[in-house]
Amino acid sequence: MQEVAGSNPAVLTTKLNNMAEINIQLPNGVNKSFPIGTTVGEVIESIGVQSSAVGAKVNGNLADFFFEIDCDSEIEPIKINSEEGLYFIRHTAAHIMAEAVQSLYPEAKVTIGPVIDNGFYYDFEYSRGFTPEDLEKIENKMKEIVNQKKPLTRKTVSRDDAIGIFNKDGETYKVEIVNDLPSDQQITIYDQDGWYDLCRGPHAPSTGFVKAFKLLSSAGAYWRGDEKNAMLQRIYGTAFWDRKELKGYLNRLEEAKKRDHRKVGKELDLFSIQEEVGAGLVLWHPKGSRIRRVIEDFWREQHDRYGYELLYTPHIANIDLWKTSGHLEFYSENMYPRMEVDNTEYQIKPMNCPFHIMIYKTDIRSYRDLPLRWAEIGTVYRYERSGVLHGLLRVRGFSQDDAHIFCRPDQIEEEVLGVLNLTILFLKTFGFDDYEIYLSTRPEKFVGEVEVWDRATDALRNALDSKGLEYEVDEGGGAFYGPKIDLKIKDVLGRAWQCSTVQVDFNLPERFDMSFIGDDNTRHQPIMIHRAIFGSMERFFGVLIEHYGGAFPLWLSPVQVRIATIADEHLEYGEKVHQVLKEKNMRVETDFRNEKLGFKVREAQLEKIPYLLVIGNNEMESGTVAPRKLGGKNLPSITIEDFLNSIESELDPQTWREVE
Ligand SMILES: [Zn+2]
Ligand SMILES: [Zn+2]
Repeated sequence: MQEVAGSNPAVLTTKLNNMAEINIQLPNGVNKSFPIGTTVGEVIESIGVQSSAVGAKVNGNLADFFFEIDCDSEIEPIKINSEEGLYFIRHTAAHIMAEAVQSLYPEAKVTIGPVIDNGFYYDFEYSRGFTPEDLEKIENKMKEIVNQKKPLTRKTVSRDDAIGIFNKDGETYKVEIVNDLPSDQQITIYDQDGWYDLCRGPHAPSTGFVKAFKLLSSAGAYWRGDEKNAMLQRIYGTAFWDRKELKGYLNRLEEAKKRDHRKVGKELDLFSIQEEVGAGLVLWHPKGSRIRRVIEDFWREQHDRYGYELLYTPHIANIDLWKTSGHLEFYSENMYPRMEVDNTEYQIKPMNCPFHIMIYKTDIRSYRDLPLRWAEIGTVYRYERSGVLHGLLRVRGFSQDDAHIFCRPDQIEEEVLGVLNLTILFLKTFGFDDYEIYLSTRPEKFVGEVEVWDRATDALRNALDSKGLEYEVDEGGGAFYGPKIDLKIKDVLGRAWQCSTVQVDFNLPERFDMSFIGDDNTRHQPIMIHRAIFGSMERFFGVLIEHYGGAFPLWLSPVQVRIATIADEHLEYGEKVHQVLKEKNMRVETDFRNEKLGFKVREAQLEKIPYLLVIGNNEMESGTVAPRKLGGKNLPSITIEDFLNSIESELDPQTWREVE
């Protein structure tokens, strides 16, 4: 949320004196004097950019044309076609929608209408939900209001006046809002040529600025989000600076709906989550499990290459372990209740870390033994409120691709670099090339020594720099026990998903009294690095499904090839082809049904099967197959051997992207 500039009540008095001048610094270092109380709009007009500007930043804060400047200030116009410009447009669109609703449904009462990511909403008190037909009517009314290019004005009113105005209108929610405002808060009303709303802005100068908008949906919502309060009717919408941008966004929205992993997962029979089993608990069906196996095989192979050892640890542990780790004290709201066995309490694991530490502690470790890199695909259970569960993306039971690196302080940078290399290799292999990377540094409350923190943070920074990766620093955003790197992957629709984390930990080695013998023959504390690349297998699978819309690359696809016969006489040859491909470890299926070829082709397409091998008279006589590639053209008939050679690179995780 942007900081909105507030204006100083002293402005009015000074304005009456009409003596003082203020100095305004404009872009390109130009300075100009204006009378005190000059509005942003007047400044913008004086520099001749009023047609492309929708507002300005005054000393870094968003302000609309109505804002009166009361002190020396720096002003930077905000263009309509900018991210910040969208804020003005969407805020104004929310008012236009509210005016349209009240003109069509006069009994509707207004409440609040904020700007949100990708759009805006407005909540109304109304006797029933708004239907799609209502939304269409409201949209048409909004178009009228936009076409009228109604100028907006901003008026400062006293608290009593505001209460009087909204009481008279019967707008009881607005009265409640005014009553709740802090006593020193300036109260402003934005009026768009007769229809007005209590609001602190900022807004576009006229309704004509909202050129491209769309109402998206309606839903019930409780006043102030509290289910004890009245149920309101919310309408969601979005607005952009032009039709092209709006259309692009609506297309992406449509595409995202088509790719929704819950929908695709069901269509392709990949996984299910069932009430009878439990909320947030995932069942991997055979085809989903095939994909997971391919992912895990690749994962294990690369971990071997990168010098990791693989571990297996139990699902529950004695409660004392979780006391020592601190989870019982600091993490209990995310944990399942304890269970009692033989008069001892056990806890189902929310994390794998303590187990790996206990393995470390079974031996005396020397500085020469470090680093130790231990990985596990460990299934953990965490309590999440049922309201936040979402398909595979937010679940209660999941398998982390977890690893812990125990190293000396001087090894942090090299180890983090190794993790980054492995992470980028993985993401590239699975088709992700764009990331957002964040480095989170020491917060106010922390454990450990400042010097150690600084060294570790520098190590993370150096590792990122040496890979030439761009990243944002989240100053003070680290966990209390150490700095970390978070990596969000961007999918084909440009959406960012948090998956990978590299977290340095000064806390657990202390709590578990871990040590190694240094070259000085004394005890030292090792550094612990937690890291996950996929984050969780479930979540990564969800992202993967949406990224590919279910049309997985050949090496990942649960069914790689389907053989389709044209008529019954081709069955025997079809079975021969089937056997050959099975011997080559292909994931292959047959469609020998007595159906038309067109029907078989369409079904294979719907199931996103990469290759359909068609077999007819010609193929049977010449000992060939006729491949049809998903989304591609039909290939000429070739021998099975030639077919296998032609797909060899597509089958290899290391080379498949070269043939994309
Ligand atoms: Zn507003
Ligand atoms: Zn861990």
